[in-house]
Amino acid sequence: MTRACALPEGAQRFYHLITFGCQMNDHDSEVLAGILEGMGYRAVDRAEAADLVVINTCCVRASAENKVYARLGELGRLKRRKPHLVIAVGGCLPQREGAAEELMRRFPQVDVIFGARNLHRLPELLARVAAGRPVVGLWAPPDEPPEGLPARRAPGVKAWVTVMYGCSNFCSYCVVPFVRGPERSRPPEAIVAEVEDLARRGYREVTLLGQNVNAYGRDLGNITFADLLRRLDRVSGVMRIRFTTSHPRDFDDRLIEVLAAGRHLCEHVHLPVQAGSNRVLGRMNRGYTREQYLDLVDRLRAALPGVGLTTDIMVGFPGEDEEDFEATLDLVRRVRFDAAFTFIYNPRPGTPAAAWPEQVPLEVRRRRIRELIALQRQISLENNRAEEGRVVEVLVEGPSETDSGRLCGRTRSFKMVVFPGASDLVGKLVRVEILAGKVNHLEGRVVEQG
Ligand code: SAH
Ligand code: SF4
Repeated sequence: MTRACALPEGAQRFYHLITFGCQMNDHDSEVLAGILEGMGYRAVDRAEAADLVVINTCCVRASAENKVYARLGELGRLKRRKPHLVIAVGGCLPQREGAAEELMRRFPQVDVIFGARNLHRLPELLARVAAGRPVVGLWAPPDEPPEGLPARRAPGVKAWVTVMYGCSNFCSYCVVPFVRGPERSRPPEAIVAEVEDLARRGYREVTLLGQNVNAYGRDLGNITFADLLRRLDRVSGVMRIRFTTSHPRDFDDRLIEVLAAGRHLCEHVHLPVQAGSNRVLGRMNRGYTREQYLDLVDRLRAALPGVGLTTDIMVGFPGEDEEDFEATLDLVRRVRFDAAFTFIYNPRPGTPAAAWPEQVPLEVRRRRIRELIALQRQISLENNRAEEGRVVEVLVEGPSETDSGRLCGRTRSFKMVVFPGASDLVGKLVRVEILAGKVNHLEGRVVEQG
């Protein structure tokens, strides 16, 4: 008898889903939840109460992997007390070079291993679970996620829609193209239909997801990301459309024009720069120079007044010297990003940069990130203070996470705003006067409702 079916016929089965990593993983977990509920499982919020625990993993940095390993250690102890528990590990980590073998060696309690691009195989993998050996079903071409997979979305105002799978850029530090496979765009009709369905179900903001969304359509040949945005801007009922992540190399003027002309297309671009030195950008294989990046920022700001600009920056890339790092600080001072995700470079198995000899000592990487974070915090605070006195449009999302007595929502430019208000404003567009700018958010009061 297989262990996945070890419960009496007809008994209710419960799953617990644990997610690490980016928004794409968060949305993949919504699909996993949809698939499991289609199989008759019900969600529980504690592993102790579950028959099946699924971990959706990230491996973009070692720290993300270590969180998965720590969780698997805990689950191993739980399984000794609860032998019928089935443990499935999916997402990016198992697809990373050598990781599936390592998982099996270190964590014999794992029953199923699957990849980020073959979530749809989970039911058949679970059906094959038997005591004693893991069922391994990693993603390999030409297998592709089919259209129409169910998703159990978080209720509320905002929803995610995947527009492309994978990445074909092969930045020299990055594991994503290896673990998520090459770029593939979903058919535009399927995306439009999904967004229409979300609008009918009351979602007000849609975020289009892809590792490099502005490469959308390159593999289809007859459509670009700008065309897709134009079509989505016409879907009735959707108040706001966002997208992430944009690659600076593929951000063309036509896309800027479409953003400027769109009604529901938000003026926010998450535009990872990674570094400010041309030598480093070249070795990273990013495909643009600092001058091209700064020029793109100028064009965005000229065409989209008030555009929010956020970024990802990495310090301590192999060979990065003090002058290169200064160039990054200088670029940050020139652009004055609204916010930045900052990372210490981390060598990833299988990526070219991991094998390069000029690795920067950890204490140098740590000092650089401290300097970078201090600079960016100062700029974020100054940018946010400059909002004081303005009246901005906010889509109300719900109670603030830090103060449940107040509401929160974002400006079109992606700034988080916290303000007093009644819960019937949730899902509505309101106008808020900004009273105070903080490092990571704005505070205000509603001056016009609905
Ligand atoms: N597709 C997106 C980002 C994917 S990964 C893009 O191209 O921008 C998210 C961020 O993690 C990257 O932007 C990068 O800053 C960081 N990152 C990726 N690989 C890393 C590594 N090996 N070490 C440290 N940070 C890394
Ligand atoms: Fe990684 Fe570069 Fe692709 Fe982003 S564009 S996912 S950083 S390879």
